[in-house]
Amino acid sequence: MTNGSIRLNKQAEVNGMSSNGSSSRLSRRSFLRWSQSAMAMFGAAPFIGSKAEAAVPTAPVGEDYYDKLGVTKIINAAGTYTTLTAACMPPQVIRAVERAALHPVYLHDLQVASGEYLAKKLRCEGALVTSGASGAITLATAACITSANGSKPGELPQNAGSLKNEVIVQKAHRYSYDHAMMLSGAVIREVVTLDDYKNAFNEKTVMTNFFNAAEEEDGPQAQIGREQWLEIAHQHNVPCHLDAAADMPPIENLWKYTQMGFDLVCFSGGKGIRGPQNAGLLLGKKHLTDLALRNTNPNGDAVGRGMKVAKEQIVGMVAAVDWLLEQSDEANEKEYNRRAKIISDAVKNIPSMQSSVVVPKIANHVPHLLLKFDPSVVGVTVPQVVERLRAQKPRVELNPNTGHKPNQGIPSDANTLVVGVWMLQPGEAEIVGRRLHAVLTQKA
Ligand SMILES: *Cc1c(COP(=O)(O)O)cnc(C)c1O
Repeated sequence: MTNGSIRLNKQAEVNGMSSNGSSSRLSRRSFLRWSQSAMAMFGAAPFIGSKAEAAVPTAPVGEDYYDKLGVTKIINAAGTYTTLTAACMPPQVIRAVERAALHPVYLHDLQVASGEYLAKKLRCEGALVTSGASGAITLATAACITSANGSKPGELPQNAGSLKNEVIVQKAHRYSYDHAMMLSGAVIREVVTLDDYKNAFNEKTVMTNFFNAAEEEDGPQAQIGREQWLEIAHQHNVPCHLDAAADMPPIENLWKYTQMGFDLVCFSGGKGIRGPQNAGLLLGKKHLTDLALRNTNPNGDAVGRGMKVAKEQIVGMVAAVDWLLEQSDEANEKEYNRRAKIISDAVKNIPSMQSSVVVPKIANHVPHLLLKFDPSVVGVTVPQVVERLRAQKPRVELNPNTGHKPNQGIPSDANTLVVGVWMLQPGEAEIVGRRLHAVLTQKA
């Protein structure tokens, strides 16, 4: 595109990151190579791993619009949170997006071809790149209403009341994304017990929804488990949607749930998968993913018209899946534990400090560092630490479970800092460790 980007691509190739490289699983060595090209891409400070060759930093390409707009950059020690713009795309994904952006295509051709490609890679019948998991939930619901009624996409949501439009959900699985189902005109029928569930099926039922992470040990106490939920829906010939938006890793979850028999499964594209933040996946039975496609853009008379997925996001999503399938959960976990150790080592001499690492069971299933200390000994409170880290440039953002009661599989409390290490860029664990030490020893 520009001389700069050509230089960058060359640098990436020197670092062993050409996208047509081997598809071998990610070794520590290739991770380090990736780190270096990521660093070159993001213009981070030089990073020299123990066994790595010194990296040759390359200036980032293009204008820095965060600086131009006066928007403060953050070091993401939180995780894949939507408000923090979730993940950053790996360099090979950014390059694929950059290339795709240079050429128009027929959007429908791209939607269909990307769906077929993803379905094959992710071992399911049908796939659709959506505007995110939330968009996928709306389109899943629209597909199930359209399927049950043999109706036209143009009827939703305004005619849904006169169509079959009920979705069954456990009370403990009610969440803000119910809104995404209601957007298609669905009405939610809430159940608690197994008997409630069995009795809830009627001539208006079109779908059931299961919030995957609600099975978390310390999550809401739902009475009906995943497999039983699915089995009973299928006894009534009703399709079952699973919301697994934040539930990768492990990588195999991308096919595990469709292979269990869930008719539709959604994932967020911009969380662990590290695609564009406004992309997602709807995977499952082809007749339903086909109907989801008919309910979305570019069709104007469709509930999904406003959930546009541009060529850049479609290609970015496919490239992110390709990238992900070259990774290994074990190598990633090892790297996250390495980062956690760098940070805990940096603060281990703070009096009363106790560190531990926890991996939530379902959503955000990666090591998180817990740093618990006694504020009366250290002379600083958890909210003060959070505030001080935010006051710096770039601001360091800790996991929102910091200072919180146990939540989402993270056993935090008022005196615990939670550091999410998986979204840190190369070299940032060291910065977070230094900053944490500084704010914990800073005189008020
Ligand atoms: C993040 C999330 C979503 C929404 O995902 P987007 O890709 O941001 O639309 C939906 N459901 C759950 C459980 C999530 O964690």
